[in-house]
Amino acid sequence: MIRTRFAPSPNGPLHLGHAYAAIVAHDLAREQGGEFLLRIEDIDGTRSRADLVPEIIADLEWLGLTWDGPVVFQSSRLASYGAAAERLKALGLLYPCQCTRAEVLAAARETGPDGPVYPGTCRGRAVNPDGVAWRLDMAKAAALAGPLEWIDALAGPQVALPEQFGDVVLLRKEAPASYHLAATLDDAADGITLVTRGQDLFAASHVHRLLQALLGLPVPTWHHHLLICEPDGRKLAKRRGSPALAVLRRGGEDGRSVAQALRMDQFPTGLCLGAGVGIEA
Ligand code: GLU
Repeated sequence: MIRTRFAPSPNGPLHLGHAYAAIVAHDLAREQGGEFLLRIEDIDGTRSRADLVPEIIADLEWLGLTWDGPVVFQSSRLASYGAAAERLKALGLLYPCQCTRAEVLAAARETGPDGPVYPGTCRGRAVNPDGVAWRLDMAKAAALAGPLEWIDALAGPQVALPEQFGDVVLLRKEAPASYHLAATLDDAADGITLVTRGQDLFAASHVHRLLQALLGLPVPTWHHHLLICEPDGRKLAKRRGSPALAVLRRGGEDGRSVAQALRMDQFPTGLCLGAGVGIEA
């Protein structure tokens, strides 16, 4: 049975782009008699806002979406992230990194899908492992896993190319786990068979496929959908003027009609579907 999910980070209010993502995942599950889960990705202590969670739930209900089982919170799963990191450390695949963001930027010589590629400054260095980030030794990890493939339902078979990210952070200083580690573990724990999300996260799936291989996790299929974009081709963003769903909801708009329009690719003036110009992840 197919099982999809919508996994918002409660860092800001949901807008039409989020509504579109939620509807795609919801409808793919419902059309096939499958299940749709709601997972709140709330482990970024510096950005996550608990007060937005009831708003997100109200927004999705207003759109007429239903989900199966209780809402899942990443913050309830920290132990599983730590345990997975310990396994990777035991394999000699993680190393502590004390570089600041500024140092990474200054040292980087290439740009990858997530931005500047870390050149491995702390790899092989004696770094006090307290209160630092832990990075994946990408070359070692990719060699251990061997060649990998994954399937995007829209783009077709893909050869996994996680090396383009360099040594990604898996455990953060300011959050218990990185997006890559937490999302990969959660999709496995939630039994997700079709990872449905926007094209801005397409490249991240190369890393997730590698983590699945290293941790012995089941391999889902992916479905990276187009994004609602602004007239300049950039991904719709709240800060550039897209109204929050909560504003439309409180303004008396009918959420089911909003959802129906999105299903028919009818967007407010100027907005259209696209791949998102200049997206980095
Ligand atoms: N939490 C991520 C976001 O809000 C989505 C993660 C995912 O779908 O894998 O952008």
